[in-house]
Amino acid sequence: MDSSVLDVFRPGVGPSSSHTMGPMVAARLFARRLDEEGLLPRTATVFVRLYGSLALTGHGHCTDRAVLLGLEGHDPATIDPAAMEPTIARVRATSRIRLLGRHEIAFDEPMNLLFLRDQRLPGHSNGMRFAAVDEGGAVLIEEEMYSIGGGAVQRAGEEHAVAPAVALPYPLEDAAALLRSCREHGLELHELALANECAQRPQAEVERLLDERWRIMQACVERGFAASGLLPGVLKVKRRAPKLHRVLESEAAAGRKDPMEWVNAWALAVNEENAAGGRVVTAPTNGAAGIVPAVLHYYARFCDGADAAGVRRFLLTSGMIGLLYKRNASISGAEMGCQGEVGVACSMAAAGLAAALNGTNEQVENAAEIGMEHNLGLTCDPIAGLVQIPCIERNAMGAVKAINAAKLALRGDGSHKVSLDQVIATMRQTGHDMATIYKETSQGGLAVNVPEC
Ligand code: SF4
Repeated sequence: MDSSVLDVFRPGVGPSSSHTMGPMVAARLFARRLDEEGLLPRTATVFVRLYGSLALTGHGHCTDRAVLLGLEGHDPATIDPAAMEPTIARVRATSRIRLLGRHEIAFDEPMNLLFLRDQRLPGHSNGMRFAAVDEGGAVLIEEEMYSIGGGAVQRAGEEHAVAPAVALPYPLEDAAALLRSCREHGLELHELALANECAQRPQAEVERLLDERWRIMQACVERGFAASGLLPGVLKVKRRAPKLHRVLESEAAAGRKDPMEWVNAWALAVNEENAAGGRVVTAPTNGAAGIVPAVLHYYARFCDGADAAGVRRFLLTSGMIGLLYKRNASISGAEMGCQGEVGVACSMAAAGLAAALNGTNEQVENAAEIGMEHNLGLTCDPIAGLVQIPCIERNAMGAVKAINAAKLALRGDGSHKVSLDQVIATMRQTGHDMATIYKETSQGGLAVNVPEC
């Protein structure tokens, strides 16, 4: 089970953490296992089968490309986005793939990579099966994995592993337990989160990595502002962030400022970069990757007293809230609908902003609760299976909502009727009750009511 806020904020590439990053990680894990077990030289080809939501929206979410890159040994955290296209073009032109970049085998994509749209594996809607066979057609190994959201991958049989690899000083059970620990030990929530991080790596390393995540988010915004043209895919969606940024800059030069319009611009920039396959940080997923950076930019630019320590308080707190959702519900759109992506990101960002602005623990928990309460039931229905409509704009809406949730919480005294734990449980139950057509399948909602072009 993930236990670090750095597992919530993973650097990677777009457009989807569950459908792009996860499958790339899984394919690479499978190729590495072949290598570790000495089977690489005997492997003549591999078969990859995709099930459930991965099969239904995989083409729009670039799952096919991700599998090829993963088998070639690429990792979403380190791959150069500019190097992806040449690799994919080579594999497709030659019908051959280089496992881990060194063992070349036959790979005829239509035969070897199958999208089984009418089948679902029992463990998770985002299921994958990998098989390696030798020259004689004998199966060397087979493996089943699931992409469980946020770029994380689970091997079949590991579904019920809940204990983290390292014993944490403050176990991540639920929000009530964390608040209790804070009261007992005189800690702020971000201090408790830091203590848990320091059980996993030295404090200097924790701070370096948090600062690095923030820099990647900022670089993503800058690229989104500098880009132009249409996003990939049949929808021919035009990037909006560059023009909005230019307008806001000229208005700022004239002395006008509208923080909420800036929040829109920051969120659009990140999610347009994500849709284009660029480098982003999951927060907690790629589809919802714009909300935390947009609210962090709002903090850094518009909040008095903002500083680097406040950015760390933000990331530690929001990341820990994300871990609670991962543990007690899910951040997978294929399981929870969009409430598990944009809803969770909104809740995380609201808590992060409240912490950065020195809210009390109770106010921070209240902010997280408000951020989710008004996203309950949010469905996932991406048009044409692309992470573009409604996803990009939805991040702008989620970021504005997160700021308002933090403001509401900070104007109160922290007491409230609905607890964060209750709202997380409600999200989980709502996700289980939600019809499958609204859970990252593009079989309902906007996806069936809006023509694709
Ligand atoms: S609608 Fe929400 S959950 Fe679905 S792909 Fe878009 S951002 Fe992700």
